[in-house]
Amino acid sequence: MRIGVVSDVHANLEALEAVLAHLDRQAPDMLVCLGDFVGYGPDPNACVERLRPLLRAAVMGNHDQAALSDSPTDHFNLFAQEAIVWTRQVLKDGPRAFLSALPRRADLTDNPAALPGLLLVHGSLRRPLDEYILDGRIARASFLAAPFEVALVGHTHHPAIFVESKRRVSTQGLLPEVPRVLTPGARYIINPGSVGQPRDGDPRAACMVLDTEGPTATLFRVPYPIEETQRKMDAAGLPVPLIERLALGR
Ligand code: ZN
Repeated sequence: MRIGVVSDVHANLEALEAVLAHLDRQAPDMLVCLGDFVGYGPDPNACVERLRPLLRAAVMGNHDQAALSDSPTDHFNLFAQEAIVWTRQVLKDGPRAFLSALPRRADLTDNPAALPGLLLVHGSLRRPLDEYILDGRIARASFLAAPFEVALVGHTHHPAIFVESKRRVSTQGLLPEVPRVLTPGARYIINPGSVGQPRDGDPRAACMVLDTEGPTATLFRVPYPIEETQRKMDAAGLPVPLIERLALGR
């Protein structure tokens, strides 16, 4: 079973199309999304509508939640707040209903061929919507918070893999195109990076394939026409720093 994984699309349709075309060539058996469909980018409705029929499972992200609510956004930075206010104004009923129905945590227990013990959350197992798993110490709390073999998380926009083996937690990088073998007996928290707003210095869109046969996790980086997304953001009046950061991957 090969599971295509996307996360943090952030309303970037050009990045999403590039990733979907790449994943199509990998021929996954199913596709899952780890949240933050919207926020920051210029195409929230189109991204939700494009992904919706393709997904076997998905979870809600903190930007999805903020876009659905009308409560204050002051826990976000100013540019993110501006983008959330804009997203609230343009989000249509269909995408809004889809995002509202997303769970905070999902598994694939309806599919016995999928990896048992696989969990999906946006942030962490401890705080599914908004905790960033940035290091081994924070990852340890998530390993303790729930029983799982592999947890897929997003939210940081940094590809990473955290391994718990013999009660020790280590942090490892994920290199594009290099299948990372998952060792039986160890537990994993894996972040596939961000489709629509990478922040690890590589502006290319990120996605992953989890192959339960290996089992292996393989990260991919996919170029997309960044200038086209930037042009749309400019036309929508979205904040300039959000436009500029796409080309930097920061
Ligand atoms: Zn995000």
